[in-house]
Amino acid sequence: MCGIFGAFNVDRAALHAYWGLYALQHRGQESAGICTTDGKEFFVVKKQGLVLEAIKREDLERLKGRAAVAHVRYSTAGDAGGANAQPILAETSKGTFALVHNGNLVNYKVLRKELTEEGVKFSYTSDSEVFVHLIDRSEGWVPEGMQLHPRDKDFLPYLFDALRTVEGAYSILLLLKDRLIAARDPHGFRPLQIGRSGESWFFASESVAFDIVGAEFKRELKPGEVVVVDGEGLRSYFPFRNSSARRAACIFEYIYFARPDSYIFGDWVYEVRKRLGRELAREVAGRFEVDAVVPVPDSGIVPAIGFSQESGVPLELGLIRNHYVGRSFIEPTQELRDLKVLMKLSPVKPVLRGKRIAIIDDSLVRGTTSRRIVKMLKRAGAEKVFVLIASPPVRYPCFYGIDIPTKEELIANRLDLEGIRDHIGADGLYYLSVEGMLRAVKGKREEYCTACFTGDYPTPAGG
Ligand code: AMP
Repeated sequence: MCGIFGAFNVDRAALHAYWGLYALQHRGQESAGICTTDGKEFFVVKKQGLVLEAIKREDLERLKGRAAVAHVRYSTAGDAGGANAQPILAETSKGTFALVHNGNLVNYKVLRKELTEEGVKFSYTSDSEVFVHLIDRSEGWVPEGMQLHPRDKDFLPYLFDALRTVEGAYSILLLLKDRLIAARDPHGFRPLQIGRSGESWFFASESVAFDIVGAEFKRELKPGEVVVVDGEGLRSYFPFRNSSARRAACIFEYIYFARPDSYIFGDWVYEVRKRLGRELAREVAGRFEVDAVVPVPDSGIVPAIGFSQESGVPLELGLIRNHYVGRSFIEPTQELRDLKVLMKLSPVKPVLRGKRIAIIDDSLVRGTTSRRIVKMLKRAGAEKVFVLIASPPVRYPCFYGIDIPTKEELIANRLDLEGIRDHIGADGLYYLSVEGMLRAVKGKREEYCTACFTGDYPTPAGG
């Protein structure tokens, strides 16, 4: 997972990008970077750490120009370190450009092997670099019958060619000296949105980034759309109109990943999460006798509101989150993960003592969080603790950019419902059904990627 941001025709573009990244920090905490151009030169800063740690005041002064692309990175295991930080600034046979990418390509390994055999040298281990080499080596391709604006003829054919070669999830931004280009894969796995303020254009993974720079949300790029902005305004192309790719918006963006104050895939994340909670309440009606519903902060809060409103069970904040726990505790060993849960959350005893509590969380992945919380609530005096999850069991790995552990680490693959309940020490456990989850989102079920829950992968290479 990653967050991307772009600004075009904006005074102090780097500063806007910095604010934008701040709003997107939840999408990646491993590294942050900004690349700008003043129309002649490019300037880039990218480092490990949170936005605040990675980009300093002096950096912002060096990042000159009125156009920028920026990135926060969330790496998958084994891929940590700042080496793969973006933007990637590339000098190619088609000119210099900076690239940022959110998503995961499923045919990356094949493409990398082919390109390496042709003599291409890769500088990074992330899949995003493939775009650069494909553009560099392309002889150009434009779909039959498509008319390009004269200003787009020098670059778009190479980009289109690269995009038709890659498969999987991409929301990308490319910064050239005189224009900014945005593209979203034909499945539309990851969000990518357009904002505007007067003559200034913005692009972001989530609309919350427009709020912070004072821009107005205009619309989301459509799946398969390529948008160019330059001094003449905005132009839109659909090079894959005849593609058979089905729409596959990532449902996990709604469940966990996106911020609740964002508007993505045509709906408010907040509203979807509340409906997930309502569906959960309908499904468990009559099963558990509870005195209060307690959300696991922060991700369980909105579904718990929906649950409480639907069921009439009072909502209590029986768990308080400490917002000052440092990232140094976010370590990939089990022991440290356990410690992190204890440091992050603490029980509110008067709410819990002698009560039958239903805790609500957005998802259950390894089972670590729930197990710790159940123990904590019981120690704080709760009489019974039921765990209700506002999404179905996570059973399958994600090939499209969400960091979901291997099949072996997913508790729902190792144990049945009773086994998981036992493992987490709860008096009852319930997961929202796939049907219930799909009722909570707008549109048709075929328009979403639910692979992590159902194993129904929208691309052939991801099975
Ligand atoms: P676990 O403790 O492994 O069962 O993880 C479940 C918790 O992690 C839930 O509270 C989620 O809010 C959160 N979560 C779910 N998916 C992810 C993810 N891909 N990366 C980080 N945290 C996640």
